[in-house]
This record gives sequence, structure tokens and C-alpha cells, in this order.
Amino acid sequence: MLQTYQKTISQPVEFEGIGLHTGVKSKVRILPVNANEGIIFKRTDLKKNNLIRANYLNVSSANLCTILKNSFGAKVSTVEHLLAALYIAGVDNALIEINSQEVPILDGSAKDFLDVINKTKLNSQSKKRKYLKVKKKIELVDGDKKISIEPNEETLEVEFELNYNNKIIGKQKNTINFSNKNLADVINSRTFCLFSDIEKIKKAGLAKGGSLDNALVVDDEKVLNNSGLRNSKEFVNHKILDLAGDFLLSGYRILGKVRCYQGGHKLTNMFLKKIFKEKSLLTFFEIEEISFPNKIKTIDQVKLAVNA
Ligand SMILES: [Zn+2]
Repeated sequence: MLQTYQKTISQPVEFEGIGLHTGVKSKVRILPVNANEGIIFKRTDLKKNNLIRANYLNVSSANLCTILKNSFGAKVSTVEHLLAALYIAGVDNALIEINSQEVPILDGSAKDFLDVINKTKLNSQSKKRKYLKVKKKIELVDGDKKISIEPNEETLEVEFELNYNNKIIGKQKNTINFSNKNLADVINSRTFCLFSDIEKIKKAGLAKGGSLDNALVVDDEKVLNNSGLRNSKEFVNHKILDLAGDFLLSGYRILGKVRCYQGGHKLTNMFLKKIFKEKSLLTFFEIEEISFPNKIKTIDQVKLAVNA
């Protein structure tokens, strides 16, 4: 069932760790904020102009990770797994203080973020949650990559297909309905890369904090992490997790059936921009509270139902 009111956390929670790309250790505190504020990052290492709103229009780069930038040039990067955790936990509004540019990668999945968020209760707020659904299919094709959304009144469902020229990853396809209670496979799935790409990524000055403790690494024959995969579709499940985090940047809870082939952060961001340009195909809504008498059928309605 869809949630009627917006939520924030009841108590501040905090954690620390190193950034996947910068290798820099940072501290993060998640604090409650008022309804309709959305998710806001605050760079506490910067004296001023340090608020960065988690919005798809503030995405400055989406290669390998999602980077947000405000109009003063302040950035925060690798936000997607924390955003996915907030999405799955049901948090609409939060201030996220961070004392460096990059959100810690923790174990490479959303599991540790959810463990932190779950240390506190969520509070319902006075404003209604903002939903968005589509009236007709919207699709974006970018080379061999493709993403679409079709109407679905009840939930966000994501069907994702990966096709890697690698024996271990290969073709993987999965469908996740985010209204399901058990999302453990999505939450636990780690970011991944090919061993052959590591040199290239490091030359680009990235993945300085990357290790087998926070990423799955595969070569031509095997997964290099000693403990292997956490679930049989870990690669595609992680892509679904990324998509959920990036979708929270819309500022709405998007309902629909999403199909994505070979996508990633960049395609998802291009797609959000396209969706918001198609205003005539969108419905923005809140859940109306059903008052008690409306739930009861009148005697005449019961009679008609019996006679039907
Ligand atoms: Zn990811």
C-alpha cells in the first residue's frame, strides 16, 4: 500500500568510511528536516554555499558514479547507494552532513547504509508524499542502451537486463517490485568492475579507495573476491539498486514499470530529464485519505452485489 505522508528520521545517525573514488575518509551525519525539504547534502568542510540539493538537475557527472553540484560549484559524489537506502527505507526528507566530497562506499552495497538508517525510527510528517505516474509509455534510446517507463498505478517495478562481454557477468536479467517486503538481494548487491578496467579507471584518477572489501571484481574466469557472490544475480541487482537511488533525485516517488537495457547513472539521468519534459504524459498526485464512512457499502450496494 502506498504511504500517504512524508517521512524523516526521528534521531540523527552517523557513520564514516572511505570514498571509492577519492580514497578520502569522511564522516556523515543524517539529520531530520521539515517536510517538503527533500534530501539535502551539506558539505561541512566548506564555510559557505555548501548546501547541495539531491535533484536530477544538479547532476554534474554520471560516469561511474552520480555527482551532484550546486550553483556555486560545491560537489558531492557517489551519492547513489545512500540515496537508494533512503528510498528503500522510505525517507523523504533528510539533511546529510558530510565533511568531504565523497560519500563513503562502505561495503559497496546499500546494506550498511540501511543498517545505519534503521538505528532510528521514521517519523510521519504533516505533508503528503508526492507521487508521479505516467499516462503513456515514455522511452529513451541511447546507442545500444535503452530505458522506458509504462503506467503502473501501484508500485515501482524495475526490469533490468545486462549484457556484458564477460563470461562471469554475461547476460543477467531480473525484475524487482519495490513494494515487496523482502528486497535483501537488491540491498546487499555490491558495485562491480572488470579487473581489466581497473588500470584504466585508476589512470583516470578514480577508484583510489577501491578494494575487494567494497567492490566485486571479476576477471575472465572468476569473481576475485574470496567470498564470491552474495546472490546469483548480484550484478544486475546492483544496477537496479543504482536506478532506485537515481530515481529519488526526481523529488517524487515514481510509480511505473521501468525496463532498462544496459543502462547506468548517465542514462537514468538523461531519462529523468526526458520524463519531466513530457509534462502532458505525467500525473502528479498525493494519496487521499479514505474517510471511514466511504469504506462501508450501503445496504443497497450489498443487495445489488448479492443479486449480481
Ligand atoms: Zn552502484
